[in-house]
Amino acid sequence: MGGTFDPIHYGHLVTAEEARFQFNMEQVVFIPAGIPPHKARKNISHSSHRLAMTRLAVGSNHHFTVSDVEIKRSGPSYAIDTVRSIGKEYEGWEIYFITGADAVLEILTWKKVEELLQKCVFVAATRPGFQLESLGRKLAHLDRAYSSRIKTMEVPALAISSTDIRRRVGEGRPIKYLLPEATEEYLYRHGLYKF
Ligand code: NAP
Repeated sequence: MGGTFDPIHYGHLVTAEEARFQFNMEQVVFIPAGIPPHKARKNISHSSHRLAMTRLAVGSNHHFTVSDVEIKRSGPSYAIDTVRSIGKEYEGWEIYFITGADAVLEILTWKKVEELLQKCVFVAATRPGFQLESLGRKLAHLDRAYSSRIKTMEVPALAISSTDIRRRVGEGRPIKYLLPEATEEYLYRHGLYKF
């Protein structure tokens, strides 16, 4: 489960649990991005905060774990490097890469996309209102064998977004019930998103 998680919220947790159920997964490993490639937004919270908030959020689900593999690696966090290293750690396991459909839309620009799609199945989580056709059009450029390695999954709970949570905090509006309490307390305690 890859994402910037700035901050992690219930939409992410519901996505992970739904993917685990639909694809019969043993475990979901949350991997906060170290230095996200192609990131337009420059003021991303420090990786230590995003890692801590992710750990607090997933704490109570024994099917969920958190990995700092991208945060510890220097340079941009390319998915291929992550999948190679997870593949070594979980040798013989089938690997799924769960993330947002908006991120997957850009997959043709990702490093070593064909190797990536050989090594794992992508689960692209969509928000309500997401235009699935745009993803289909992009994927039409991929070999048929590769495009079938990208599954889409509609997640109504993704009406919650990190962008909206950051904006709300900045405006002093409530974020209660949008993310786990421990994560909410953490971000207030550390004064995050008060721009
Ligand atoms: P992003 O642009 O911050 O997010 C794109 C959209 O997807 C946002 O609407 C976001 O909503 C949603 N999203 C992100 N992660 C999600 C998740 N795990 N579950 C459900 N929705 C999610 O994308 P990003 O976080 O930078 O990148 C996502 C993943 O793709 C990361 O693991 C990143 O390393 C990888 N990536 C790899 C490459 C590459 O290898 N070249 C390039 C780009 C991205 P929220 O803001 O609410 O999360």
